[in-house]
Amino acid sequence: PAAKASAVRAAFLNFFRDRHGHRLVPSASVRPRGDPSLLFVNAGMNQFKPIFLGTVDPRSEMAGFRRVANSQKCVRAGGRHNDLEDVGRDLSHHTFFEMLGNWAFGGEYFKEEACSMAWELLTQVYGIPVERLWVSYFDGDPKAGLEPDLETRDIWLSLGVPATRVLSFGPQENFWEMGDTGPCGPCTEIHYDLAGGVGAPQLVELWNLVFMQHNREADGSLQPLPQWHVDTGMGLERLVAVLQGKHSTYDTDLFSPLLHAIQQGCRAPPYLGRVGVADEGRTDTAYRVVADHIRTLSVCISDGVFPGMSVWKGYREDRAVRFSMEILKAPPGFLGSLVPVVVEILGDAYPELQRNSAQIANLVLEDEAAFLASLERGRRIIDRTLRTLGPSDMFPAEVAWSLSLSGDLGLPLDMVELMLEEKGVQLDSTGLERLAQEEAQHQARQAEPVQKQGLWLDVHALGELQRQGVPPTDNSPKYNYSL
Ligand code: ATP
Ligand code: MG
Ligand code: MG
Ligand code: MG
Repeated sequence: PAAKASAVRAAFLNFFRDRHGHRLVPSASVRPRGDPSLLFVNAGMNQFKPIFLGTVDPRSEMAGFRRVANSQKCVRAGGRHNDLEDVGRDLSHHTFFEMLGNWAFGGEYFKEEACSMAWELLTQVYGIPVERLWVSYFDGDPKAGLEPDLETRDIWLSLGVPATRVLSFGPQENFWEMGDTGPCGPCTEIHYDLAGGVGAPQLVELWNLVFMQHNREADGSLQPLPQWHVDTGMGLERLVAVLQGKHSTYDTDLFSPLLHAIQQGCRAPPYLGRVGVADEGRTDTAYRVVADHIRTLSVCISDGVFPGMSVWKGYREDRAVRFSMEILKAPPGFLGSLVPVVVEILGDAYPELQRNSAQIANLVLEDEAAFLASLERGRRIIDRTLRTLGPSDMFPAEVAWSLSLSGDLGLPLDMVELMLEEKGVQLDSTGLERLAQEEAQHQARQAEPVQKQGLWLDVHALGELQRQGVPPTDNSPKYNYSL
């Protein structure tokens, strides 16, 4: 039988600790601490940014880090790394995923050791057939004065990768940056061929090894870092899919209990894993969106990122709620019932999920109820407005805009557009653009404080209320902290 996800995760950490002397560090919270350049933690390296930049406090524990490894909770639902559009549509992107990583700081080791450790782990420990693996390296960027990384190409060749499976790409693919500013550098990636030598290769990216050498400044320029470092990241869900012989991350034990619970809870037709046009009625897409959403929401809440906080701007949570209600015919309160399943899957690796499970379920329930209430309210306002319009009138921009801005009861604009589309009514989009521009100008004039303190205390206060059996009220963090 194929290894379970928990064993795959453990094997990664043990390999770097026992065979290569790495120190294991816990995952950081998905809520970035003191880094306004990030919405969510999007990679394992985020917590080590001060080491890369050379700004680490010499008295801190981190200052002593040389070789470390971990499994980091990541969210890519906003900012530079935003995979929202792909989630549900494909079989390899999630908004929340786990990134397995190893690091060598300050020249502890560099390209050669990093590549050979990765190769050893994949081919010897995990036993992935060499014929299935492809690699890529950076072929330079003349505009930025960056040379092709031939050193890395030669390392792969010397490790026995045939030249036909060593490819090179430009900065788009093989130059990794954490955000619009911050540490960055050329990278080399390891891909897995799902097609297995039959027909055209069907590659899925598994592991990215970044050689941190520069910092992207606010003016767009690249500055050399004081020291060079290795920073790697491999998606656990994809690795597990490969090792369990699946083409889809959703067919692994990280997701299948969730898909099963969705089927049971909604009495929906079974999940068949179809994508694109094959997924008529979008049932399978809905399953994926809902499973992905509940993982993300659970992890975020347990790390103090609550529904309603401004980081979610742009995250289409309405999509998950709507898909579950309309396509899967979920009963009200259904999303909250999935929280224990997420905790069961991820709780051993991330005990904070176990500790906070009751309050996660509570907030998910409230969030769903609040969204349904705003949906109903939006429907009523739209219907009343439509009655005042002539047959060829457009829907007034002001009404759509006010619907989207009504505090906690606000509906995202694309949601309003969708509802109008369903009614066959055209929205005055020129008017809407003008309103949006005015709002942007207004916002720009108001300097927003970057960070607000105090949320951590309240997570605990909420947990305390929970333990004492105090039922949730409108004073839950969602309402207190719409930042
Ligand atoms: P992709 O090209 O597939 O979008 P990426 O190049 O954006 O991946 P990296 O920033 O290099 O990803 O992150 C390192 C690794 O994390 C990837 O090689 C992949 O295995 C995994 N990964 C990245 N994004 C996701 C995601 N949205 N869901 C699951 N795993 C991911
Ligand atoms: Mg990506
Ligand atoms: Mg990529
Ligand atoms: Mg990559």
